[in-house]
Amino acid sequence: MNVLKYLAGYPAHVQARVHELIAQGRLGAMLAEKYDQPHAVRSDGQLYDYVQALKDRHLKKSVPLGKVIYDARLQVVKHALGTHTTISRVQGDRLKTSREIRIAGVFRDAPAEFLRMIVVHELAHLKEAEHNKAFYQLCTHIEPDYHQLEFDMRLYLTHLETEAR
Ligand SMILES: [Zn+2]
Repeated sequence: MNVLKYLAGYPAHVQARVHELIAQGRLGAMLAEKYDQPHAVRSDGQLYDYVQALKDRHLKKSVPLGKVIYDARLQVVKHALGTHTTISRVQGDRLKTSREIRIAGVFRDAPAEFLRMIVVHELAHLKEAEHNKAFYQLCTHIEPDYHQLEFDMRLYLTHLETEAR
């Protein structure tokens, strides 16, 4: 069984179930049914406003935002969410240098919930560099469904990749 790189941190039985859905060609349809809301956050300016609004609501006291952009070269979702060690290092550097938030271009066309999830993730990094307990508490404080959304977002990336093959 191939390792599903976006799901590497999840138990074997979960991965086996996902392999099954892929083999049956059902993963995409399942996700499309559950997440049928697109979003209207198309430009970097709209993304900035979106992130700022979420920040104002939940993290008012944290550092001000710098640049907020979609980055088409950030295939990094791979790296970013592939392994937590990589991202905390990347995020750690980023925290030190600026409060810039880059969202991988793939989220421009992703369902609304996944954009929200990734923005919550990046906002939480304004306060917590590491993927530790405090980090995830902050994520679920902002978005109670965070863990489910992160899992489903990983399914979504897995689906996009199996499609592209
Ligand atoms: Zn992170």
